[in-house]
Amino acid sequence: MKLKFIGGCKQIGGQAIELESKNRVYLFDYGILMDKKPTLPPLDFDVKNLDIIFLSHAHLDHSGGLPLFFSGSKSPILIMTPTTRVLSKILIDDMLRLSEYYLPFMRNELMDMINKTSLFSYNQTLWHHLKGIEFLIIDAGHIPGSASFICKINGKRILYTGDVNHRTTRLLNGMSNNFPKIDYVIMESTYGNSDHPPRVEVEKDFVSAIENIVVSKNGTVLVPAFGVGRSQEIMCILHHYNVKFPVYVDGMARSVSRALLNHLEILRDEELYRNAVENSYFISVGKNKHLERQNAVSNPGVIIAPSGMLKGGTAIFYSEELINNPDNAIYLVSFQLPDTLGRQILETQIWKDGKTKIKAEIKHFPLSSHSGKSELLSFVDYIHNKSNGNTTFFIVHGDEDNTDGLYSAMEEKGISTFVPNLGEEFQIL
Ligand SMILES: [Zn+2]
Repeated sequence: MKLKFIGGCKQIGGQAIELESKNRVYLFDYGILMDKKPTLPPLDFDVKNLDIIFLSHAHLDHSGGLPLFFSGSKSPILIMTPTTRVLSKILIDDMLRLSEYYLPFMRNELMDMINKTSLFSYNQTLWHHLKGIEFLIIDAGHIPGSASFICKINGKRILYTGDVNHRTTRLLNGMSNNFPKIDYVIMESTYGNSDHPPRVEVEKDFVSAIENIVVSKNGTVLVPAFGVGRSQEIMCILHHYNVKFPVYVDGMARSVSRALLNHLEILRDEELYRNAVENSYFISVGKNKHLERQNAVSNPGVIIAPSGMLKGGTAIFYSEELINNPDNAIYLVSFQLPDTLGRQILETQIWKDGKTKIKAEIKHFPLSSHSGKSELLSFVDYIHNKSNGNTTFFIVHGDEDNTDGLYSAMEEKGISTFVPNLGEEFQIL
């Protein structure tokens, strides 16, 4: 039996791991790497031999390449939660619509994929059995529908975390640490080398900074946010703190927010979510949208719009309308990758033209949907102790600073840990 790491090694993007056993092939995620142009993880097996794909969640760095497997007559079993099916359809469809580059599949393949998914809900104890492998599906706490998989094969248990958040947020419950003994763990490390400040403190700072702009200065706050997960989290935070000003929502967050109304059972607080959606103003998609957007930037309130790192989307339009007034603000809430406009304005206060000095207030509030270093390490300790130190860990999905930071901390504790290189294989027994 072997594990082969074909994507997401020492980086974030193109997440994919192969598991081979007795002529059967299984895949955990098959994401897209959005660099200068999109690329897919390289496959070294005949696609016809692929038995099962486990999709952890809808983010494109995990799901974006999956339609590739649905272009021939024989397609693999594709396992995900019902919410992940809805969200990955929205996200991959959007990627296909907006991509300026060649992708080796089109909408037909996406629709075929969506029609052929095998849906499983979270259940911490119910083992499913398919094609030589048994598996459990666990709530990973990262975005709506996100799952971790525990697979039992040849008498060994393998846990693939996907992306995880152990902390409870306003939108979702955190991942629970209640596992059987595990032999091998493949884990993410987005924040493997840093900790988040206490969540409730960040929430309170965020809301009071917004109130200062909107209520005291009659200004407008733009919160650039990913349409899946983060936008809904911001809506829930604002509603939880009972804000009394308008909250506008634009971009993909609108369809995602509406879709989640049919999946309330996976959220932390159904009523909070329903009320947050009801009390937010969704910019219309029809001909009134320009008027509504102008209205939103001209009045005191909050606008939640994509993209989260200002790589595109309507957040660019809103920013351009807001940056010249010191009574306005742009509050970033997610990880800002290097070479994004979000990172640039945070570090330099200079707009994308390279010369306009931004007068609006720019701040970052770390409202992450990933576990920080301490949470990852206490999760590792729990698993390590449960197996009396007989678990081997593989660290993926993090840039080198984070994979190495986590590796060093685990090595110090004497835990068997690897940071796989791209294409590296491990025989596991
Ligand atoms: Zn993710």
